[in-house]
Amino acid sequence: MNNLEKIIRDRIIQHGPISVGEYMMMALCHPKYGYYMSKDPFGKDGDFTTAPEISQIFGELVGVWVINRWIEMGSPEKFILVECGPGRGTLMSDILRVASKAKGLMEAVDIRMVETSPVLIEKQKEVLKGFNIKWCENISEITNNVPVIVIGNEFFDALPVEHLVKLKDRWVQKVISIDKIGKFCYGLREVMAGLKPEGIEGKEEDIYEFAPVRAAYMRNVCELIKSNGGGALFIDYGHFKSSVGDTLQAVKNHKYVDILEDTGNADITSHVDFEMLARVAKEVGVSDIKLSTQRNFLLKMGLKERAAALMKVADEKQQNDIVCAVKRLSGTDNGEMGELFKVIEVNG
Ligand code: SAH
Repeated sequence: MNNLEKIIRDRIIQHGPISVGEYMMMALCHPKYGYYMSKDPFGKDGDFTTAPEISQIFGELVGVWVINRWIEMGSPEKFILVECGPGRGTLMSDILRVASKAKGLMEAVDIRMVETSPVLIEKQKEVLKGFNIKWCENISEITNNVPVIVIGNEFFDALPVEHLVKLKDRWVQKVISIDKIGKFCYGLREVMAGLKPEGIEGKEEDIYEFAPVRAAYMRNVCELIKSNGGGALFIDYGHFKSSVGDTLQAVKNHKYVDILEDTGNADITSHVDFEMLARVAKEVGVSDIKLSTQRNFLLKMGLKERAAALMKVADEKQQNDIVCAVKRLSGTDNGEMGELFKVIEVNG
């Protein structure tokens, strides 16, 4: 049993079972032993690879989106560019390379990184040396009254979800407890009366992933956009329609592992419900909301044209890499990201 597992076990012994969301939160963000707190999980030698780490084209096209948004807003003299969960800082670095080509943008931008991991903050500082950037732990810390552009790639999937389980007549909540030999196991507990998935009836044994932390985060982003003006772009794996299904997964060394094993050493995520994100944006009153697949978004931002331009100045090996990256980012086969990943754009 590792240190984090001991901490969680003692908490369960003292205070009773914890919810799936509480477990996920501790596994990822425990200040000392949480997954994101002590590791750089990206790349071939890490646990997983994300789109900005696959190719510079991804970040460059997000950069084009940022420039467009800034121009559509009337090129304000001051605006805040926020990245939620910036990982290694690769995405921001690619965005800024492109954005510096837009006249006046770099003079107008105030860059903020929302990050909780001390290890990744150090990495981001190294990659983005020379830029004037401020770090914060939560987007709610941004209170200035200037337009904001918020971006996030694979951010929402890392925020905790709760599992509601349908019994014959009602929904209950899945919890994590400990069994006779001291190992983590699942249990169920009653939920507050009336807590059930919106618009979903469900049949016995169905699981619904309820994501109050994600919803609250999205609400915060949209309220900021509504009051200050601006836009948001979030990209993640997920689905367009709210539905039942267990998508919680733990990944270590590019392989799926048991969520309850080796807590704190595997990345735990779940698919993002984009219908819920869009619903929150609508509730806040942000008018312009677009959903698309990653494939269609990247094509719209000029994927083919950018890849062709890079091909012209690439050697044979680099050309091969570009073709593979484009396929991985926008392809629709199993294991490719084009349709698995979805995009929400919110403009206000
Ligand atoms: N956007 C990056 C990294 C995605 S991984 C990329 O595409 O490569 C998730 C990122 O979110 C990590 O940087 C992690 O440290 C950060 N993160 C996780 N939970 C967070 C939280 N609650 N608040 C802010 N950042 C968080």
